[in-house]
Amino acid sequence: MDVFVCGRCGAELTVAVERVALPVHAHQRYGCDLMPVLMESGTYAVDPEPSGWPWRPWAEVTADEAAARGLFAPVPVLSFGPAGAVVVAPSDTRGTVVIPERRGGFCCGLDGRDGPNLACEGCGQAVATLLDDHARWRAVWLDPEAVSRIPDVAPSRPPDTWDTLLRDRPGTPPRDGLGWWEPEWYAAVGFALAHLLAMSGGVPVGVPDGLVAQTFRRALRVLLPAGPPRLTLALAGPGLPEEPGAGLLLVPQHPQTAGTWRPEAPPKAPEPDVVPIPFDVWRHMAFPAGKAPMPVSGRLPDGVLRDDYPSLPPPTQFRPDERLFFATLARLPEVRTPWLRAFYDRHHERPYAVGF
Ligand SMILES: [Zn+2]
Ligand SMILES: [Zn+2]
Repeated sequence: MDVFVCGRCGAELTVAVERVALPVHAHQRYGCDLMPVLMESGTYAVDPEPSGWPWRPWAEVTADEAAARGLFAPVPVLSFGPAGAVVVAPSDTRGTVVIPERRGGFCCGLDGRDGPNLACEGCGQAVATLLDDHARWRAVWLDPEAVSRIPDVAPSRPPDTWDTLLRDRPGTPPRDGLGWWEPEWYAAVGFALAHLLAMSGGVPVGVPDGLVAQTFRRALRVLLPAGPPRLTLALAGPGLPEEPGAGLLLVPQHPQTAGTWRPEAPPKAPEPDVVPIPFDVWRHMAFPAGKAPMPVSGRLPDGVLRDDYPSLPPPTQFRPDERLFFATLARLPEVRTPWLRAFYDRHHERPYAVGF
């Protein structure tokens, strides 16, 4: 576990936190309401991409400079700021104060538009940005040039195995407390859909019934030509039987390492193409309500009624996060293939008009 301290005076700015993967929905903007906290308490993640000032328009950047920042298709502006911003839960920070003249946003909270809005209480250096306005996942982003990491202040535990995750990590059910789709699901499917489109080669893809169909099928009708499927997407991962014949596998992405689950292919067999989706969503697609991944004993006693929301999908139409879909596509090297680049160029400036 690590602690982050002020780079100027050494004051501790966080409690001890353990590194996990950057959530796919870290930069999602959703709706007009307050959002939950992005990071689980006791954890942190690092954004590998540059962030913040200075910004340069796409027209002034060479293809090599863009590729070095992980971008393979045009975006309006690119950050040439430092890479490696660190994100933690607001409750895990210590010794910071709000900088009064940087209170930008302030509809429901701060949105960081004026730059870092938290200073070190000890020396006054600007060290982080608190995001807690509507539509943004609540988080504190530490400026990588203003803080230092003190490693190994307490022993870290090894990442969970897939079997441990399946046993202990409940994931994110499709339905939120009010009965709507979880915003995390829109982000996860937008992310996976970009990978799926890139691997499809532009031919019709069939998907299994159930939650995968409910979340992917409508968007695939918009993105790919009509006709009988020439490729099939199947769910695969820990606890699931093998699906022979599927050309594409929808597999979980590890929440701590960001590694992708891979089937144990016999030696020399070609590796099947895998489409990653965050484990917390995959879990509920693979094992929908009522289908436990392992045998359970007992049942509710007679006369006891459940009063929690059934973990069924909401009745409303599902719409993958278009902005996250295009942002993911721009970061896949496959976007340089002519058919995909032509699609990207037609739609990326107006992602909502793509018609999911
Ligand atoms: Zn607001
Ligand atoms: Zn300081």
